[in-house]
Amino acid sequence: MSNPTNLTDLMPDTSGINFFTADHDLSFLLQRHLSEEDYERALLILTDMGAVASQRMDELAQIANRQGPVLMQFDKRGQRVDEVTFHPDYHELERIAYQDFAIAACSHRDGALGWPGKVPQPVKFALGYLGMQAEAGVFCPVSMTDALARVLERYGSEPLKRRFLPGLTALTMGELKQGAMFLTEKQGGSDVGLTSTVAKPRLSNNISENGLQPEWEIWGDKWFCSNVSADLILTLARPEGAPGGTRGLGLFLVPRLLDDGMHNAYTINRLKDKLGTRSMATGEVTLQGAQAYLVGNRERGFVQMTEMINLTRIWAAIGSLAAMRRSYLEALVYTRGRIAFGRPLAEHPLMRRQLVDLLIEVEGCAALAFETAAVLERVDRHGVEEDRRLLRILTPLCKYYIPKRGEYVTLEALEMRGGNGYVEDWVNPRLLRDAIVNVVWEGSSNVIVLDVLRVIEREGAGAALYHMLHTRLQSLQHPVVAPVAQQVLTLVSQLAERLQELTSLDHESAQLPMRGLVERMVQLTIVTLLLEQAQNELLRDSEGTGKRKWLIALLYLHQHVLVHPDALAADNDSTALNYFDALVDWKHVAVGYSF
Ligand SMILES: Cc1cc2nc3c(=O)[nH]c(=O)nc-3n(C[C@H](O)[C@H](O)[C@H](O)COP(=O)(O)OP(=O)(O)OC[C@H]3O[C@@H](n4cnc5c(N)ncnc54)[C@H](O)[C@@H]3O)c2cc1C
Repeated sequence: MSNPTNLTDLMPDTSGINFFTADHDLSFLLQRHLSEEDYERALLILTDMGAVASQRMDELAQIANRQGPVLMQFDKRGQRVDEVTFHPDYHELERIAYQDFAIAACSHRDGALGWPGKVPQPVKFALGYLGMQAEAGVFCPVSMTDALARVLERYGSEPLKRRFLPGLTALTMGELKQGAMFLTEKQGGSDVGLTSTVAKPRLSNNISENGLQPEWEIWGDKWFCSNVSADLILTLARPEGAPGGTRGLGLFLVPRLLDDGMHNAYTINRLKDKLGTRSMATGEVTLQGAQAYLVGNRERGFVQMTEMINLTRIWAAIGSLAAMRRSYLEALVYTRGRIAFGRPLAEHPLMRRQLVDLLIEVEGCAALAFETAAVLERVDRHGVEEDRRLLRILTPLCKYYIPKRGEYVTLEALEMRGGNGYVEDWVNPRLLRDAIVNVVWEGSSNVIVLDVLRVIEREGAGAALYHMLHTRLQSLQHPVVAPVAQQVLTLVSQLAERLQELTSLDHESAQLPMRGLVERMVQLTIVTLLLEQAQNELLRDSEGTGKRKWLIALLYLHQHVLVHPDALAADNDSTALNYFDALVDWKHVAVGYSF
């Protein structure tokens, strides 16, 4: 019989590696985006999460995804019950996310995780990012619970907030009320204006003890309902007589259970048999006069709903980033341990290039995602209009780009594990499946691209992005970085001109180049952020990692931003070979190296 230790050496994986302490880039980013005290405070919590995610959550996720939820529609007497049962391991994943690490509540409620005040958004997303490296499914409900609380905080009446916010932001599983959003219908997911669900005023309104009354009943079918057994659901419905399109839609809160403990009037018809996120229940629902509370302004339901969608879009980007980081780490560990042709795979030139390719994708996307989280935090704390417009464009840029790169990175990493990467015993198939959904849900790519066009045309968000990039590139004066920053600045100005030209086109023609332009916007944003990081590293740390980030920025620039006139020369670049260990292990790169 073979010795198990040898087998581990033959087929290494990330077991025993703390996802946080191994992730130098995450610490680097959080140091940038948090005050010193907040960073210190976050360290212990993130170290705990890194350990739990890499061990316990990973084990739980394997089972919870294999033995997914089951719908029981009827009880033994044939009464309709519509209950979803989950494997106990899924419930433990819920407990870790909601209770142990308070991820849904911590940015709403003072004092969660022992924090003085609310936990900053970058810390919340860092916790989610670490957790999602083990399990994606449970984080869909977590993100919706977080986002539903945000909508109620902004638009709910005081009685509605008093009644429902404590449950949504509860810190124990016993008190927790999970959130969901039922928007998509058979005829329209992207085109929400086609919503045919109807809201009717209720005839008998008994005011309950808490002074609240569900004044509406909702009738209609919803086709994709994740976390289908959630306690509180936000949905869009058209009040009778309201105009068509998104303008006529109202926003409604539907509780699963009524005050008397009875199930509200909707049925779960089926659970979806999905490619990924298999631990979590996505169902089809018929609302049959479900009692509901109107949220906010009746004519502005869709606009208010976008508050929820924009937050879950950031969550989707973080989910893909997590899958990318885990995929990269698995690939690195595997190829460094696995011997082929007399030496570790990671010493072969083609594999080195592939690993460095994945690394720059992960660090580039992480720069964008955590920048967005930091802008969200600023918007929440200070409410500056310029930041709000910046957030409005960074959100779809993240949602478009990171899940797209997530598909590439998770698939590459699967291949880098060879045959095992294709086998369900290993994490790669799950990472790939779970990353793909982020491209589709919360708005598929084209819809996101059109959102970018809309916010440029209607909200001045393109100008906010241009201003941010311009200011930051101008501030990069370090002699190593400045010449490249100026080069990027020229490209940013060209892009701004290109976007300006769109205003002279009719709406149909303006859409055509948008996908390419969105990619360009993201890549220029990422390279700006990486150059800024490089300058900070050079200024702060010439004895430490020195020019490591500078190399990452240059590699990113050459891979994605500069169209190399001589592809062969780009392919011959030996940075990935010469600086491999420094890049992947965050070691010193001497100042003086030039690309
Ligand atoms: C696992 C899973 C869970 C989900 N959970 C939920 C949930 O909890 N709640 C919920 O409400 N929804 C949920 N969804 C639904 C999801 O948000 C929609 O599937 C998605 O928004 C696309 O809508 P659709 O399926 O109707 O596709 P369609 O609207 O038919 O779109 C098909 C394709 O056309 C493209 N397209 C659409 N309009 C345009 C255009 N103007 N120009 C160019 N291309 C266009 C889209 O990008 C897409 O690629 C879930 C989906 C999945 C897969």
